Amino acid sequence: MTTTSATADRSTGPWATALDQLTSACRVLGYDEGLQAMLATPRREMNVAIPLRCDDGRKMILRGYRVQHNISRGPGKGGLRFHQDVDLDEVRALAMWMTWKCAIADLPYGGAKGGVTIDPLQHTRGELERVTRRYTSEILPIIGPERDIMAPDMGTGEDTMAWIMDTYSVNQGYTIPGVVTGKPIAVGGSLGRTTATSAGVVHVTKAALADAGLGLADVRIAIQGFGKVGSHAASIFAAGGARVVAVSDMYGGVHNPDGLDLPALVAHVAATGSVVGFERAEPVDNVALLALDADVLVPAALEGVLTEETAPTVQARWVVEGANGPTTGPADKILVDKGVTIVPDILANAGGVVVSYFEWVQANQAYWWTEREIDDKLEHRMLTAYRDVADLSRRENLTLRDAALVIGVQRVAQAHQIRGLYP
Ligand code: NAD
Repeated sequence: MTTTSATADRSTGPWATALDQLTSACRVLGYDEGLQAMLATPRREMNVAIPLRCDDGRKMILRGYRVQHNISRGPGKGGLRFHQDVDLDEVRALAMWMTWKCAIADLPYGGAKGGVTIDPLQHTRGELERVTRRYTSEILPIIGPERDIMAPDMGTGEDTMAWIMDTYSVNQGYTIPGVVTGKPIAVGGSLGRTTATSAGVVHVTKAALADAGLGLADVRIAIQGFGKVGSHAASIFAAGGARVVAVSDMYGGVHNPDGLDLPALVAHVAATGSVVGFERAEPVDNVALLALDADVLVPAALEGVLTEETAPTVQARWVVEGANGPTTGPADKILVDKGVTIVPDILANAGGVVVSYFEWVQANQAYWWTEREIDDKLEHRMLTAYRDVADLSRRENLTLRDAALVIGVQRVAQAHQIRGLYP
């Protein structure tokens, strides 16, 4: 299949897409070249070697990255990705998107991202723990609860965050839960974090449908990716009355036009490790899934899956970007020309960083909120962000993506301008 993201081609990869998006937002905002260069340039980048002793005694060197794209509004914030295609340009793009995402959600954070070029499926838990701890120790000088706060992304999870927190805390000599978010509850994680990104995707989808006079019960939804984002989104959509007609993972997908039985599918995945082979559905591959007869398409796996080749085949009226950067620049234009409403990543999947913010606030004040409080605050933040973006989009006749970018870029630029340039 053709979903690999981190291409070596600098003219079409995610970093090129992110820079093009910034250019178009700066054009709308009338910013000069100097300001655009300030906003485009990552503030700090670390590129580290990670020596790993494998369980069988072999030694190998992996590469790890941490990019702090912008820290004008607060500490860097962003996930850590373990994937075999990770490279510096991909991490830069993801860090830039975090900057705009945090600003759109009005969080007191800049944007950052980390990655290690590793296929986590080829390594044991012990090896992954050693990679995580060595990576953390290599980037120790630039992270911390006031500097840069990591969270899970593709290929990492709450165990990874616990190892980072432990490594950082041991080095500092006391326990510092605020250095990461997405931790297990037992060591300072927040209620509601596991499902936060997915719940946020559902909140904005409902808001976008409501703008068209529809509700969840009126739509069929196809979801690419059945990991942390896709699987919970599927369950929440189904529980809300939507028909989830297709889902997929890296091994393939399953399709049932009458709607998938989500609890049974989740049980199947728990037992087999994949959606493939689920009995009450037909198989569908990851490219065909994008073209299915559905009302809402939720890419929730890798970036760069909606391309010049796949975008013309999309039948859905809404694309809600659970993944970061799933739509290339040319594909975005094709979809917009077809009349598809795209709820962009920097808005649609902001629920994760919003509840990460709640987790950080709780960790720093050592006082914990109830799940109800978190769910309510998340819904409020997501709907406020959606309304800001949708209102600007209507007022200025911009797509939701352009409106979201304009809001995010403008808030960051304001911070630059108010703070001034030192010296
Ligand atoms: P994950 O590792 O939990 O799940 C990824 C899913 O994608 C898995 O189902 C995997 O099988 C599938 N996948 C991997 N390679 C694929 C391929 N080539 N084709 C089709 N499917 C493939 O990751 P996640 O945390 O769910 O993240 C998914 C996306 O959402 C990423 O773009 C990530 O940056 C974005 N995101 C995640 C969060 C979060 O809180 N986890 C927040 C915001 C955005």
